[in-house]
Amino acid sequence: MTATRASRTAARRPRVHKPINSAHGSKAAKPVARTVGMPAEQVLYRFCKPGWAVVVEKVATALGTRFVCPFCPASHRVPGPVRGFRKMRRAQWIKLRRVAE
Ligand SMILES: [Zn+2]
Repeated sequence: MTATRASRTAARRPRVHKPINSAHGSKAAKPVARTVGMPAEQVLYRFCKPGWAVVVEKVATALGTRFVCPFCPASHRVPGPVRGFRKMRRAQWIKLRRVAE
């Protein structure tokens, strides 16, 4: 019993250190610094659903966008593209501007 255990431990292979190709390694390790433009500023608007805000991207040339509301059968008009919806605390939500329609 003990002999078997000992032989098993001894059979363990020692760690093999592979030489690292430094030139290739450094090239691969370089982080990809690709900026996909500055993240657009986002504004929150409150709409028909209490406690929920719509996240609208601020665009300089915004002409107004309509989005189909997930909470009511109508659609609402916002100044830019909709990026999502956010649940908020009522105190914060009350301060937000309303959507146009
Ligand atoms: Zn609505």
